[in-house]
Amino acid sequence: MSEKKQGFDMDFVAATTVEGIKDAGKLSMFKKSEKKEKKEDEIKRVKTCCRACIANCGVIATVKNGRVIKLEGDPADRMSKGRMCAKGLSGIQALYHPNRNKYPMMRVGKRGENKWRRISWEKAIDIIAHKLVETKQKYGAETVFCSTGGGGNPEIWSIARFCNIFGTPNWFEPGCAQCYLPRVVAYTMMYGGVDPSIADSNALEIYDTFDTPIKTLVLWGTDPSYSCPASGGGAVADLRANGVKTVVIDPRLTPDAAKADVWLPLRPGTDVALQLAWIRYIIENKLYDEDFVMKWTNLPYLVDVETKMNWRASVSNDENIPDTFYVWDEKTNSPKEMEYPWDDSLSPALMGTFEHEGKTYKTGMQLLWESVEKYTLEVAGEICELDPERIEKGIRLYAENTPSGLAIGVSTDQTPNSTQAAMAAATLDILVGNVERPGALLQRFRTSGVFDMPNYPVPIAASKLPDEQLKKRLGGIEHKGLHIWFAGHITSVFDAVLTGKPYKPRVWIDRSGNKMAAVADSQKVRRVIDELDFIVHMYMYPTSFSAYADILLPTEEWLETDMIVETCNTLCARQQVVHLWETMDETLIWSKICKRCGELGDEDCAKAFDADYMGNDLPYWDKVTDLWDHFLSRVGLSFDDLKKNTPYTYMSKEEWKDYYVYKHIDEKTGKERGFNTPSKKCEVYLESMITLGRTGKPFAKCELPPASKDYEPLPYYLEPAESPRDAEFAKEYPLVMTNGRVPYFHHNTLRNVPWLREIYPVPEIWMYPTDAEKYGLEDGAWAWVESKRGRIRAVVSVTEGIKPGAVYMERFWNPETLNTETHGWKEMNVNVLTKADAPFNDVVGTYTLRAFLVKVYPAEGAPEGILTNPQDFARWLAMPTDPTAEVKF
Ligand code: SF4
Repeated sequence: MSEKKQGFDMDFVAATTVEGIKDAGKLSMFKKSEKKEKKEDEIKRVKTCCRACIANCGVIATVKNGRVIKLEGDPADRMSKGRMCAKGLSGIQALYHPNRNKYPMMRVGKRGENKWRRISWEKAIDIIAHKLVETKQKYGAETVFCSTGGGGNPEIWSIARFCNIFGTPNWFEPGCAQCYLPRVVAYTMMYGGVDPSIADSNALEIYDTFDTPIKTLVLWGTDPSYSCPASGGGAVADLRANGVKTVVIDPRLTPDAAKADVWLPLRPGTDVALQLAWIRYIIENKLYDEDFVMKWTNLPYLVDVETKMNWRASVSNDENIPDTFYVWDEKTNSPKEMEYPWDDSLSPALMGTFEHEGKTYKTGMQLLWESVEKYTLEVAGEICELDPERIEKGIRLYAENTPSGLAIGVSTDQTPNSTQAAMAAATLDILVGNVERPGALLQRFRTSGVFDMPNYPVPIAASKLPDEQLKKRLGGIEHKGLHIWFAGHITSVFDAVLTGKPYKPRVWIDRSGNKMAAVADSQKVRRVIDELDFIVHMYMYPTSFSAYADILLPTEEWLETDMIVETCNTLCARQQVVHLWETMDETLIWSKICKRCGELGDEDCAKAFDADYMGNDLPYWDKVTDLWDHFLSRVGLSFDDLKKNTPYTYMSKEEWKDYYVYKHIDEKTGKERGFNTPSKKCEVYLESMITLGRTGKPFAKCELPPASKDYEPLPYYLEPAESPRDAEFAKEYPLVMTNGRVPYFHHNTLRNVPWLREIYPVPEIWMYPTDAEKYGLEDGAWAWVESKRGRIRAVVSVTEGIKPGAVYMERFWNPETLNTETHGWKEMNVNVLTKADAPFNDVVGTYTLRAFLVKVYPAEGAPEGILTNPQDFARWLAMPTDPTAEVKF
């Protein structure tokens, strides 16, 4: 059967020889299977971990005669407990997809023609390395940029590592400023521990579902039932079954919203206004945990209103000992130094404005109150389009039915309010005292110690990036929060490509699900592509972005990958169940590129193989299992041991669940350990945010020039850049667009999987019945959805599950039109509509992926060439194939 008939979506220039391989026929991986004597079926069951999203659910794969024939959940997995979702169960279709990227490929013909010739790995790596070294020598390492994201990525830090070693400060994820990083910045700075994102497998308290005292769970802009159904979604369902109350803040009626005790369907983009009202109500009604707030937050500390910095009594040069701060002692009506952690002889004021020696000081709590004072229930109700009584009901449940916890999701990360929302969410849990007590989501449970930094398996080698290169990070001066992930700012990188200012990036190496669909304003991405000298794309199958690349590299599906996963008090092996074609582990691809650059004379890359030079950053590896063996040796295991014993319990559950870590006595000081913040208190008044904006500390490894304005130490609300309250704008674009997951896809992945496209063939646009009627649209009709930046099509779903005046749409792209002029990204991709330009979030540079304005009107029909009928997807049914040996060179 020809490749076309089987639904191949790239043109292969027929090649019986493979460039770069002298005698391809001798390599066993290219041989057709020889006929063998019929033997008894060989069946084995292999334990591994899913990576169809980032929840890492335990999986048992049944392999018959070398082919994976069945996937099922592993009941021993601490989080998923034997559950799997549709995405994970489709792993076989993804693995054996007829359109896998099977071999390295080189573009022939013009960029965008999607014509390819197979080449060897040696040749592909050689071409890439030559281009990298040449570009670095001619224009500087910073003119190479790398990126990842879009789902299915086993190890994103490989990219950051390579960039640090090669010497470019410019890598990014579609995430970064838009997904998760704002929360990481806020919780790291305010609490000094892990944020409570359920989709990111944090909030570990919820997985002991029948043994946790949590009474109320707030799901703020997160929908575990959709985003991670088998792990977090299952845990939340179990909690509800166990009587836990839930409050859901979401403009759409997700399954979690439908089962909530209080559902607050706010206007998209107004979350921070609502959060400020929650904070105000909790302060006004004294629903906060007074003892915790007084003793374990910095809210009683005095702030100099002129400098906005805390008033220090002493500065410590010992990292184990915090500075000391002044409080206003009500007994003596004077400022007094508060010895860490607490001085019983003092009676600090929590609120108040005080004058001393001609200066004005306020407590942190006073400043917090002033920042929220105007957000009454009525004001928030008006901004967010919610009933004030219903808001109050949600707050009371959260603040009175305790212990409770607030899990905030990605939705608030996707507007310029991003860090403010995360800061406000952290403030709420801190005020209510939901910190490290049983039932709280904010916990610092123990870890295995296998990795230097939990969840950063590949050493990032940040110390190897020279300071002068770090200072060239695009967007890195204005948005210094990005330095926490050593990342650049997407819009700043793209603007530099288009304008040549401050310099012109020229080479792009991307590993992602589809950049055309994963970052804002796809048409701008298309313009960027035209300006570049060289593009490499590595992924499991071709995407729209691949069509514009010069080299394609085939990466491994999760069923082909080896990796260590830490799940609660266990270590699990994501182990290679089979290996197909010439796919390669991604960490290894970067190692190969680096090695070849070194051979071509790049000294930075050559040194990356020197164990003495690399130190704790580790020299690059030839086999990824060498890396895992290295880390596992810290607990006396090898990767082979872990494969046989997965999940491996490294510590009893009781020992692992370490509550009240801040109260543990620090042996070095003899005092309570406190939190991992400069003051060792929860820093609700985030003075460090000002320091970050002025210097880059604590995230940048060298001092940076100040941003154009100070970052705010307390959360504040910004009305969305495109607002329905802007009457002129709203006249043409009257509806507010929001996005969010459906449970069939992770980011940009899996649109080519028959089972999943059968369930969800095309993206729906949800419209409230009166809106649909007003704009002449019926349920099931095709509609145009248009923003100021472009238009796409979707199928109308008329539903009361979205608030009036708002519409919801899942992002989408169409693998079936890859080989057409649209390359699958122009038809139904919501990022044609989104906004990549200012305003940005000050701290991390977030642009507008949600809460922008659109109009919706009838379309004449479906886009040309798209698939909608179940039988159409038969072209993508799995083509089971025999395993191959790993690529060696
Ligand atoms: S939630 Fe689904 S896709 Fe995600 S890891 Fe678990 S089974 Fe895989």
